[in-house]
Amino acid sequence: MTNIKVIAFDADDTLWVNEPYFREAEEKFCALLEDYLPLHSVANELFKTEIRNLPLYGYGIKGFMLSMIETILEVTEGTASLEMISKAIQYGKEQLNKPIELLDGIELVLETLKGDYRLVVATKGDLLDQERKLQKSGLEKYFHHIEIMSDKQEKDYLKLLKHLDCKPENFLMIGNSLKSDVLPVLQIGGHAVHVPFHTTWAHEEIENNVEHENFTPVQTISDILPLLK
Ligand SMILES: [Mg+2]
Repeated sequence: MTNIKVIAFDADDTLWVNEPYFREAEEKFCALLEDYLPLHSVANELFKTEIRNLPLYGYGIKGFMLSMIETILEVTEGTASLEMISKAIQYGKEQLNKPIELLDGIELVLETLKGDYRLVVATKGDLLDQERKLQKSGLEKYFHHIEIMSDKQEKDYLKLLKHLDCKPENFLMIGNSLKSDVLPVLQIGGHAVHVPFHTTWAHEEIENNVEHENFTPVQTISDILPLLK
């Protein structure tokens, strides 16, 4: 990895813990509907609703809350109590108020790299929620630019690179999702590092292994330092 000038970090489950909070909310949500359907079927219905709504709501907790409410209405065939709806809203709000738990080693990595590279955050999710998390994280000072993206497809990365005035060969993306953080970046000629996180949303999973000359899988975020220093 020579010639890297800009390093972009995914945020959720790369800088800080995120997916386990969704799983926690989902478990409570499924329990709410257990009189109507087995837990795994509720989870399945919720997932289908979320995917169907993605083009309308985008990624993030607010869309997740609306999908929970819609799933309640569908599963109960419109007979749900207002109490159930209010629980779903409560679960979402609790999630929005979670503390930020930084992942191991992240601060040292950012501190070590910040003088030599332009560091950027490239994340999906709700604008306000991601801004709030970044502020709470105390990591803002390391970053030259924050990009909250509605999606992470090739066209979205090309737009980001144009904005940063950076060529793909000078760009490195680091993240926990092969589908969103790695594949589209390799596709446009950039470099990508995958740092696995123990929990991945089903929508971000891919079936094939990635093999590419610009791709480096690592075990933990600190493993990138010897590659870049
Ligand atoms: Mg992520």
